Amino acid sequence: MYIILLGAPGSGKGTVAKMIEGKFGVPHLSTGDILRDNVNKGTCVGNQAKEYMDNGKLVPDDIVIQMVKGRVLEEDCKTGFILDGFPRTIKQAEALELIFDELDITIDAIFNFEASQETIIERLSGRRTCKNCGAIYHIKNIPPKVEDECDKCGDRLYQRDDDKKDVVKNRLVVYKTQTKKLISYYEKQDSFYKIDANKKAGEMFVEVCKDLGQSGKSG
Ligand code: ADP
Ligand code: ZN
Repeated sequence: MYIILLGAPGSGKGTVAKMIEGKFGVPHLSTGDILRDNVNKGTCVGNQAKEYMDNGKLVPDDIVIQMVKGRVLEEDCKTGFILDGFPRTIKQAEALELIFDELDITIDAIFNFEASQETIIERLSGRRTCKNCGAIYHIKNIPPKVEDECDKCGDRLYQRDDDKKDVVKNRLVVYKTQTKKLISYYEKQDSFYKIDANKKAGEMFVEVCKDLGQSGKSG
């Protein structure tokens, strides 16, 4: 199963991606997570990416495309994957098309998460993340059982630096000027679906499963 998730930062695609991963057993590939991991480990990619990320700007296409190319060839991607945060530019979408052609992959679904500006700001400002396992929480909507502690692994939760106000502004501008164009790139395809992303994560997941021709209740 091959899925692409589109949508603004804070539209909930990462949260829903984790739910899809749990139900269908295909890995959630978040370019943001992979980049943050590289930054933490101080890899060559991480060192190149850090400044862009700190400012809410896009990391150059070549770096991200190479990284994704490598990742989709790994063993756990053999039966599918969920792309979250990639592609983000037309150049990335074109590169992805070539990758899919080479690997003889057909996309099952492209979901566009549509959220209002208020929803986005509310989600990003309340978002908390586990550095260790990547789980995503929200102080009001999806609180952990114990404050500031990950339900899954017990690690401390933190607020991403780029979820702070000034950087959020830049990320939304980048989304509007660069990433939004991808909607017209993909919307003509049969496998393109819109998701009302002002709804709760569980409701969005049910919608996604329906579109995939499955029931969202059993998982
Ligand atoms: P969000 O979707 O909430 O903005 P991500 O975790 O997906 O956050 O991305 C965080 C940052 O990582 C982005 O602001 C950008 O700097 C970088 N990044 C992630 N994916 C890409 C990509 N496909 N192309 C360029 N930069 C990216
Ligand atoms: Zn965790």
